[in-house]
Amino acid sequence: MSTEAATLLDEIDENRSVWAAGKPPYEPQPKLEGDLVCDVAIIGGGFTGVSTAWHLSELLPHKSVALLEAKVLANGASGRNGGLMLNWVNGVETTDTERAKLVYDATREGIDIVERIIRDNALPVRFRRDGTNEIFTDPARAEQGARDVERLSKAGVPLRFLSASELREHLQLQGACGAIHDPTAGQIDGVAFIRAQLPLLLGRGVRICENTPVLGVEEGKTITLRTPHGTVRAGAVVLATNAYTPRLGYFKRGIVPLHSHAIATEPLDEATWSELGWRQGAGFSDDLDRVAYASLTKDGELVFGGGSNAAYDYVYGSRTRFDRPADKGYAAVHARFLEYFPKAKSVRIAHRWTGTVAVTMSRVCTMGVMGEHRNIYYAVGFSGHGITLANLAGRVLTDLYVGADERWRAQPFYQQKLLYIPPEPLRWAGYHAFTKLTGKSPRRHA
Ligand SMILES: Cc1cc2nc3c(=O)[nH]c(=O)nc-3n(C[C@H](O)[C@H](O)[C@H](O)COP(=O)(O)OP(=O)(O)OC[C@H]3O[C@@H](n4cnc5c(N)ncnc54)[C@H](O)[C@@H]3O)c2cc1C
Repeated sequence: MSTEAATLLDEIDENRSVWAAGKPPYEPQPKLEGDLVCDVAIIGGGFTGVSTAWHLSELLPHKSVALLEAKVLANGASGRNGGLMLNWVNGVETTDTERAKLVYDATREGIDIVERIIRDNALPVRFRRDGTNEIFTDPARAEQGARDVERLSKAGVPLRFLSASELREHLQLQGACGAIHDPTAGQIDGVAFIRAQLPLLLGRGVRICENTPVLGVEEGKTITLRTPHGTVRAGAVVLATNAYTPRLGYFKRGIVPLHSHAIATEPLDEATWSELGWRQGAGFSDDLDRVAYASLTKDGELVFGGGSNAAYDYVYGSRTRFDRPADKGYAAVHARFLEYFPKAKSVRIAHRWTGTVAVTMSRVCTMGVMGEHRNIYYAVGFSGHGITLANLAGRVLTDLYVGADERWRAQPFYQQKLLYIPPEPLRWAGYHAFTKLTGKSPRRHA
């Protein structure tokens, strides 16, 4: 198969997240010029690509690994998110207790792995693991949440239910009726984490080429990747391109790219925090389908995103480029922010940015291997809930590569067959009909 992504370089937008804004100047690795032969070529330098490079080079130091990134590392959602490192797999219900425990344990392992990488290598990365809260905006759902927590904690999932008054001791949020506190979840600065791994990966011999978009994939026993100034011939390829994957010809009917808008305040001092009512915890997300979430940076900026249909944009034709003003989206995010924090009216918004997420019909992501020669590996479709899973993906794909993947086979994301999403114009109409119907509906997971 030969596919084209010729205009991709121009199609990834330039706006900067709060995570990228505060960083020292970054010198990208040289682009690929000439031809390269390697055992594994990874396309994409977000969490999925970097975690795959990390685990492959750690477990199989004799294998040659190359990572090709269209722009710079963490250019995609991995450098533009809310920072919440959460458990669970989006789209998977927790009503089956045994299955819920299996999923929780896997995602908890994903967070453990990140914590270990940071600690063992003394990486200068802001990472905190003092728990997150999933808040309820409806009393009946809060009651159900309390029952779920009781059932799941008996099975060893260490959640705690916070009543509305207990929640207020941590976090005062207008309209919150209680929360599920997850003590093993946390928050990470994705740009710092990815950049901090770079010198270690180079030290292990991983070849990293930035400003190197893959324009076409020729499948075969040896796969050929075409880039503007050279080719790569590899025994295996990893698609770590999440929302951009359909542009390479894969998952065209399984993934929809959505543009998600977020804002961050100026750095806030202790007095403002206390006035706003944020006392403890790495962050929160809510229970609605158009999920709202918030977290804190190390400098005390409050990051906030989601919360309304307008906070997520779909561009006709599933285009990954978002090239119209996002003012409506930012205004919607800000309005939701003020609903939760009515005392924040005079707080200045210092950053706003857009990132692209890959949404599947069921919201469940998929990780596996495909192709006639079983040498195209993939982990895509995180549906806006991928910080933990994309970092776990490197471990899962490495285990698949060495044939030691049994322990992942029962996971809902393992070779998950993605539900069919029709092409245009049905896709556009379906997306808008669906969002209108579900704007304030509850989310489909714990
Ligand atoms: C605003 C926003 C808020 C979010 N908040 C959260 C949150 O709080 N918690 C959470 O769990 N998740 C969150 N997410 C989702 C999470 O960030 C993503 O699921 C995760 O980062 C996906 O990582 P990835 O490596 O698979 O994809 P990406 O980070 O998108 O990386 C893909 C990379 O591939 C590169 N690429 C694409 N095509 C090519 C090509 N042809 N050749 C070479 N390179 C290519 C891109 O430039 C990009 O760098 C959020 C996302 C956004 C946008």
